[in-house]
Amino acid sequence: MTSSFSNLSLAEPLARAVAEMGYESMTPIQAQAIPVVLTGKDVMGAAQTGTGKTAAFSLPLLQRLLKHENSSTSPARHPVRALVLLPTRELADQVAQQVALYAKYTKLRSTVVFGGMDMKPQTLELKKGVEVLVATPGRLLDHIEAKNAVLNQVEYVVLDEADRMLDIGFLPDLQRILSYLPKQRTTLLFSATFSPEIKRLAGSYLQDPITIEVARPNETASTVEQHFYSASDDDKRRAIHQVLKSRGIKQAFIFVNSKLGCARLARSLEREGLKTTALHGDKSQDERLKALDAFKQGAVDLLVCTDVAARGLDIKDVPAVFNFDVPFNAEDYVHRIGRTGRAGASGLAVTLVSGSDARLVADIEKLLKKKIEIEALEYDEDRPRGRINDGRRHWRDAEGAEPGQGDARSERPARAPRSPSRHAPTAPRDPFFDQPYETPADAPKPSWEAAERPSTGRVSPNIKPKRKVAALFKAQDPVA
Ligand code: AMP
Repeated sequence: MTSSFSNLSLAEPLARAVAEMGYESMTPIQAQAIPVVLTGKDVMGAAQTGTGKTAAFSLPLLQRLLKHENSSTSPARHPVRALVLLPTRELADQVAQQVALYAKYTKLRSTVVFGGMDMKPQTLELKKGVEVLVATPGRLLDHIEAKNAVLNQVEYVVLDEADRMLDIGFLPDLQRILSYLPKQRTTLLFSATFSPEIKRLAGSYLQDPITIEVARPNETASTVEQHFYSASDDDKRRAIHQVLKSRGIKQAFIFVNSKLGCARLARSLEREGLKTTALHGDKSQDERLKALDAFKQGAVDLLVCTDVAARGLDIKDVPAVFNFDVPFNAEDYVHRIGRTGRAGASGLAVTLVSGSDARLVADIEKLLKKKIEIEALEYDEDRPRGRINDGRRHWRDAEGAEPGQGDARSERPARAPRSPSRHAPTAPRDPFFDQPYETPADAPKPSWEAAERPSTGRVSPNIKPKRKVAALFKAQDPVA
């Protein structure tokens, strides 16, 4: 069901901002959630990033906050009235940007705080007073402790991507933050799935919530055309060239399973003439934002990324997603291909399947509950195949799939690849890659997710064992 924003009787400044965004009609989550949030009721929404859920909660919240709008310069006249919590910096940044766009013709102020950045500029913004505060939990607690953020006038709280916040182990931080808020408030919880943990969280913090579910968990967008092509490790880059060319695709995300593979694949593709950048956990926050920006501006055509680094990225209209590696966890397949075909646009998802991927593909089949056909890809010109001379001593796999070593840097350590023959030894070994990966002693402060990891308390008993392992691993080997 879609309908027009004009049915909502949004206040003129908000309607004008929406019109400027060029949205023609509401997405299903917007059509269902906006009228409910406008009534002030609690909402439990099952919707993934890419469904338009940011507008679904921010537009009605802004509308309800308009009664507080004022042009006073006194910070006291601009207390935090709405708090939006998200698991990662990029998500927080994206949501804050959208909120600012929707609020641009109002006098309501908004800002964002997240870790890994200097606290001072954030403190200055907070001290000036903001009605809408978008934050990641760890950094928000820092600001609360420093008395930069006072939350006793919060009327609305949004727990966005709540499942991921629990996955990361943010439950204790969330509980602390929620304890600072007035009991009388509206709480909105959005999650890709309604797991038992999410239901427990909702049971504790939401009052008679209205449940809104627009896409069943793990359902892949029907606008995404999915193909699984058989390709040996040596043929995978050639397959990417072929699909890009035959489909006339301008930009794409390419997913790999390891940080090492990510950097090396990006280098190889770049050398082959494709404007490519890598996004993985060893990149600094600044480098990531630059990479994202370059992709958004069209200065870069291919973004090679790992699952953790790409989580929740909202880049509109990515025409295609490639799974250079079949993901170890079938759920990641759904997350990955969710980057394309968003908000009604059509998209292409291509998964390159090598001989040893059968079990991983079977897992995806099971999750999607449909048969996957592995197709043969026709090549119409000779392209560089697997091994390239990288200008150093040895010839080796361009993809970084140095036999058995790529996974040492895997960003998803919870499950190992199931087939030992996944990367059959084919090239001379470089001793560097025979060493287990270790974070250098002088490594810069933990990567961002580690910095945002809950600073206090134990990992929640609500978190599944698999997630616990992932959380613990992240503590030692911080990744994106
Ligand atoms: P979100 O799920 O909130 O991350 O939104 C995903 C993307 O969809 C964002 O880039 C929005 O700008 C865009 N979007 C949100 N609402 C609409 C709409 N009604 N029509 C088209 N695009 C939208």
